[in-house]
Amino acid sequence: MTDTDCIFCKIVAGDIPSTKVLETERVLAFRDLHPKAPTHVLVIPKAHYANIAELTAADPGLAGEVLAATAAIAESEGIAETGWNLLGNTGAEAGQTIFHVHFHVLGGKSFEPLLAA
Ligand code: AMP
Ligand code: ZN
Repeated sequence: MTDTDCIFCKIVAGDIPSTKVLETERVLAFRDLHPKAPTHVLVIPKAHYANIAELTAADPGLAGEVLAATAAIAESEGIAETGWNLLGNTGAEAGQTIFHVHFHVLGGKSFEPLLAA
């Protein structure tokens, strides 16, 4: 399942280069091109789903594999103990610019709590 116009499908296919951090049979993680923190890794299912709702409806097991990969990356990046953020922009108003579902794993710096009072 791929979308020929999708940047992340092209990364999965190897048509666009990426710096891979973790790869399993169904999940790929690579470094963000414009990192917003010392650790900024994108985690995606290799199959194309536009967003979290599409992924979880079609294949909740795969959604679990993606989530497990985020925690494995936090361990391998050395931020599991210091703390890390998991960001999943969904929809244009939330800032999603690439419509192949992905989670940002962010860490290695101190963040202002998003939901602070
Ligand atoms: P979002 O705004 O949540 O859709 O996030 C898309 C992210 O993809 C942004 O943080 C971009 O910096 C990143 N990005 C765009 N193109 C590439 C690429 N070719 N390789 C790695 N990251 C990319
Ligand atoms: Zn795609």
